[in-house]
Amino acid sequence: MDQYFDIIIVGGGPAGLTAAVYARRAGKSVLLLERESFGGQIASSPKVENFPGLPAVSGAELAERLYSQAEALGTRIELEEALEIQSGTPSRVVTDYGAYTAGAVILATGMRRRTLGLAGEDRLAGISFCAVCDGAFYAGQDVAVAGGGSTALQDALYLADICRHVTVIHRRSDFRADPILVERAEKTANLTLLRSTVVEALEGSERLTGLTLRNTAVGEVSPLPVSALFQAVGLLPESRLARSLGVPVDEAGFIAVGEDCLTPIPGIFAAGDLRAKEVRQLTTACADGAVAALAACAGLVLGLPLLCLTPGHLLKNPYRPLGVPGGLCCSLHSSRRGGDFSVWAGSQETVHPMERRPPVFRRPPGVYLMAKVTETVTCCSPNSPPCATQ
Ligand code: NAP
Repeated sequence: MDQYFDIIIVGGGPAGLTAAVYARRAGKSVLLLERESFGGQIASSPKVENFPGLPAVSGAELAERLYSQAEALGTRIELEEALEIQSGTPSRVVTDYGAYTAGAVILATGMRRRTLGLAGEDRLAGISFCAVCDGAFYAGQDVAVAGGGSTALQDALYLADICRHVTVIHRRSDFRADPILVERAEKTANLTLLRSTVVEALEGSERLTGLTLRNTAVGEVSPLPVSALFQAVGLLPESRLARSLGVPVDEAGFIAVGEDCLTPIPGIFAAGDLRAKEVRQLTTACADGAVAALAACAGLVLGLPLLCLTPGHLLKNPYRPLGVPGGLCCSLHSSRRGGDFSVWAGSQETVHPMERRPPVFRRPPGVYLMAKVTETVTCCSPNSPPCATQ
């Protein structure tokens, strides 16, 4: 039988790891799946200077810290690729090693690298997407970086410390990168910024020996001898799993869900850079992770019984038939208020049955309810003292 977790998080970047921290601290069993390496994009960032409380830290160190925190709190972490998700109660996640079930799934799959799509870029030695990983191979040599965002400029500054000369090739006249990075690059003696320039071709048979560049402003074509090209031309949303579940995406492929990280599919949440949003930063990814985890924790308590909620049903079939292992114990209060259905929920420890708390979930009637609920209900796990309606 597939192993059950309260929450499965797909993706081990800042959003996923933060979600794990919050879910574990809320007492949920958590499985985090990552197919490649932890920390997401940030792991290959030479230096992070805008994470509150950490004035300067390498991306690798920050990734390690995020990972260690989630692991120390008891997150089960597996290097497995989630291949398919079947939503339901519970949902099922199929990986390249097996399958798991979960009360909630948080998609935090982030973004994947965009490439220039030049002939030979997949076979030539000297093409890299990670300055921190590969920069040392080109110590004392001339290299180029393609792109005009913060990644490209950070990579170029990092490489300038190692390499003889670095040329940044950017297709427009304005840089998208943080102005402070552009300013630093302009002041770096062995770094050249080429604006309005594109890479037309890669030269070399086995190893990269140079680039053919074209200045788009004047149309001039010129050679640039380099032994490496670092591509930093942005990222594309990794939203295949979300799309296969029927979660709506925008025209660029980002998951079209709001700040609450709730998708229209019950039990499926989306957090981090793959979500359509204005500001895509490390801190906003972490914020999404927290929001999604707390929503998932609330949904775990609420979503399952509400799918078949009648007081009688709860008495006869608390939780276990719905796929949640026995032992889980919660209190759930419901009432009708002004046409909305408000629910107070939490673990036995955190919410006393008689306690009045602000609703953690508010939905119009009919969205979650398949049965009408008019009374306050207290439900318990199969192993608890008899359940009662009040
Ligand atoms: P980005 O901001 O999307 O920049 C991608 C760059 O590649 C842009 O300059 C773009 O040009 C260029 N580009 C895209 N397609 C191209 C093509 N086909 N040919 C040539 N150039 C192409 O990506 P990023 O730099 O990887 O940054 C991603 C996110 O991470 C951003 O939000 C960034 O702020 C953030 N970030 C943060 C830090 C940090 O320290 N906190 C570090 C790195 C990145 P155009 O400008 O012409 O579109």
